[in-house]
Amino acid sequence: ATYEDWKREDEYHKSFLLEPDEALEYALANSEANGLPDIAVTPAQGKYLKLLALSVGAKRILELGTLGGYSTIWLARALPEGGELITCEYVQKHADVARQNLEHADLTSKVKIVVGAATDTLAKMDPSELFDFIFVDADKPNYPTYFKRCRSLMRKGGVVFVDNVIRRGGVSNLAIKDDPRINGVREMLEVVKQDKGMDATTIGTVGEKGYDGFMYAVRLD
Ligand code: SAM
Repeated sequence: ATYEDWKREDEYHKSFLLEPDEALEYALANSEANGLPDIAVTPAQGKYLKLLALSVGAKRILELGTLGGYSTIWLARALPEGGELITCEYVQKHADVARQNLEHADLTSKVKIVVGAATDTLAKMDPSELFDFIFVDADKPNYPTYFKRCRSLMRKGGVVFVDNVIRRGGVSNLAIKDDPRINGVREMLEVVKQDKGMDATTIGTVGEKGYDGFMYAVRLD
């Protein structure tokens, strides 16, 4: 199968399962108009994140890597009344565009954007305020640190969903030795392997944004 096949599959399935959505379309158009890179999750993946958060009854969600808030909108829509989502973004411009997009989606009362390096934001978080669902989608070299911190900020039975862990097959291609993003994913997998209080699996995905995959991990202890 080729990229065109993957794209057609996404379009076909979307035509049944995803309604046109003004707030999400605005978020993508406004992000593009402001020069943000086209690296948000796809609509099908965004909806999957929302459904996963609904499945665990998430009331508190954490996201690392906001960009223009596209995935943030999907996830925030899974929250019940009184629920909260904290999203961490390093680039002020991205956070500003995300704020506009969240305002347009009428979600600002549920979402807090924290600007800064996610490692610093995580270090300052209150360890007694646990999350039900965590979406990791920021800089890949920090994935081992993110995973360790996120697992300790998650309730028992909570989920950490880590994106971009296959990287077009690059992660398993041991001839690639010097890519810090690929090495970040490999080191995170080693951390997960050693962590007997977490159970995890990796699933490859193809679609309109190519070939990649995610890791889904549940806290057991
Ligand atoms: N989750 C977004 C979505 O699907 O709509 C896409 C996030 S994009 C792949 C990654 C984001 O992480 C970028 O906006 C980037 O600026 C941000 N980022 C990079 N390094 C970061 C860091 N150290 N701390 C927090 N965010 C960071």
